[in-house]
Amino acid sequence: MRTSILAAADLDELIQSLKAAGYQVIGPVRDDAAVVYDDINSATDLPRGWVDEQEKGHYRLLPAGDDRYFGYTVAANAWKRFLNPPRKRLWRVVRQDGKLQFIPESDSAPPLAFIGVRSCELHAIHIQDRVLIDGAHCDEGYRQRRRHLFTVAVNCTRAAATCFCTSMHTGPRVELQSDLVLTELLDEHGHRFLLETGTDAGHRITASLPLMPATDDDTALAESRINIAREQMLAGPRQFDSSGIHNLLFSNMESPAWDAVAERCLSCANCTLACPTCFCFAVEDTTDLTGDHAERWQRWDSCFNGAFSHVHGGSVRNSTRARYRQWMTHKLAGWVDQFGQSGCVGCGRCISWCPAGIDITEQLQAIAEGDAS
Ligand code: SF4
Ligand code: SF4
Repeated sequence: MRTSILAAADLDELIQSLKAAGYQVIGPVRDDAAVVYDDINSATDLPRGWVDEQEKGHYRLLPAGDDRYFGYTVAANAWKRFLNPPRKRLWRVVRQDGKLQFIPESDSAPPLAFIGVRSCELHAIHIQDRVLIDGAHCDEGYRQRRRHLFTVAVNCTRAAATCFCTSMHTGPRVELQSDLVLTELLDEHGHRFLLETGTDAGHRITASLPLMPATDDDTALAESRINIAREQMLAGPRQFDSSGIHNLLFSNMESPAWDAVAERCLSCANCTLACPTCFCFAVEDTTDLTGDHAERWQRWDSCFNGAFSHVHGGSVRNSTRARYRQWMTHKLAGWVDQFGQSGCVGCGRCISWCPAGIDITEQLQAIAEGDAS
């Protein structure tokens, strides 16, 4: 891995280099008082000078008091919407001259470049790979987008109050492979990025950039900044030992904590839509009034929806208690059996974006306190 320094003033050159190579560049932007991932054209689109404040059912953007580009933590929406769109048409069928003609959808799309992927988010993308590529039914569109994906990851140098990647062993330092990894440095020596190049594609994109050699001091400073984020989480209330969760949850399926959380949960599905690893979808067929045109669409679904578990005769999970328990036990325990790893990366989105202020780490604690095993 090559390590260099990119001046903050030259960050836009990286974006333009990606665009010149044919990538659709997606990164953080400020929209409707939140940081979200969306198309970006230049470095001026980035949320420079803003930090996020996140807590249970709470999200605010505040002036950072400095010029950092990546002072916020994770955006409101996850990257999954670009790799696995919320709605996509699978095929159309038209009747012509009395015959039905099926028209498949093309999976072709410009290659994507993500700028600002955090360590927990890289883990989330790898988790979705397990399901959507390596699973029994490969999603070809996802596989194509993933194959051509270029990632510019960013090491976190501060943690939101809702972050708990240290507990889930998914951050804050980027350990999984990324084409490029940035650590933002801002001190008396200037505003710059420690840039680690991890792949050949990364070398090609950075070949024309005005890079400078990184010093040992730059590398040490980057590590100390990442450690700040780590220490913030370790000192916070959401730090826990995740090694026993699988047995804890499966041993407490009748815990009164499920009843208590069901009193508050609205079954609104916000948590699943915000979660970077949730992947469930439904398929819908539509037709026009002539009966000559029909379409099949795939759209995100959620285990919080009553119809999600509808089988012959009705819904299998017909209470909020059953749905919340399904979501949490599947995410934190069932996934380990199915995919060999937890489905939670500790990003905290389900905590911030729950309108009832339900906190998955508090729910774990409540179950642990009443542990019946
Ligand atoms: S369950 Fe919550 S904290 Fe865990 S990955 Fe999903 S949104 Fe993030
Ligand atoms: S836990 Fe919160 S976000 Fe999730 S369904 Fe219940 S109320 Fe909605």
